[in-house]
Amino acid sequence: MAWSKKFSSCQSCGTNEWNHLARGYCKKCYPLIKDLETIKCWDVNKNKTLITVRGVNPKPHINDSQFKKYQSNFINQIESRLGLYKLYNKSNVEGLDIEGCFKTIAEDYCTGSNKSSDFHGAVTKYDLKFNARQRKLIYKDLLLLRINRQFRVNHTQIYFDNY
Ligand SMILES: [Zn+2]
Repeated sequence: MAWSKKFSSCQSCGTNEWNHLARGYCKKCYPLIKDLETIKCWDVNKNKTLITVRGVNPKPHINDSQFKKYQSNFINQIESRLGLYKLYNKSNVEGLDIEGCFKTIAEDYCTGSNKSSDFHGAVTKYDLKFNARQRKLIYKDLLLLRINRQFRVNHTQIYFDNY
């Protein structure tokens, strides 16, 4: 059965892992695609374009010289989340991808100062002891831990460059 009437997979993440929601996008990607469209339309001279997205209200910042910068920082954040969903479709998964994923998850979930250091050297382990198919299975499961963690906008990251 086709994924949607017109498309065989999501036009953003490229998978058919999640159900179609609208306009060729899955239920993971579509809400972010819509947010992206709204943010890209923000125009300080057109009040009705200044719509709050995910708790970020652009209106108090219209006279700030950094407005464009804030806007592009926010766009980057949304695009980076969409990028995470695209990884789910990655072919040729290498040990480095798996190590990176373990480290990100450790940073998010563990406590302590060296929380990601336990995964130094995971590259070699996954490249030598697992074949490509096995690496892909492991990687996809790890990605789900990240994908299914609620996306929260980092406001600090929008307004400050050296976060
Ligand atoms: Zn998608």
